[in-house]
Amino acid sequence: MTGKAKPKKHTAKEIAAKVDAATTSRGGGKAGLHDRLGGEKGGHAKYECPHCKTTAPDIKTMEIHHEAKHPKIPYEESKIINKHATVQADPNKPRPGIRGSLKK
Ligand SMILES: [Zn+2]
Repeated sequence: MTGKAKPKKHTAKEIAAKVDAATTSRGGGKAGLHDRLGGEKGGHAKYECPHCKTTAPDIKTMEIHHEAKHPKIPYEESKIINKHATVQADPNKPRPGIRGSLKK
């Protein structure tokens, strides 16, 4: 009769938690979800809704947003604000943190 059963160090529950932590993207919210679904990756909100200024990481998300929030307004991809393009097309705007040319 062997009275003592040694407890396993790694229970199924612990392993499941580790697997979950390793395979689940946390902290990304909707952006993380779309990362896993594939498509254009950026990490930053690239597109901005011209109607309510909501941002989305890709055009597909913006289209879904538009249909959900502005169903009465026809969806026009050309009206979606591409923030990345906007930033590059605005060279006159002073950039905070860069002081190279301001020597006394
Ligand atoms: Zn909107």
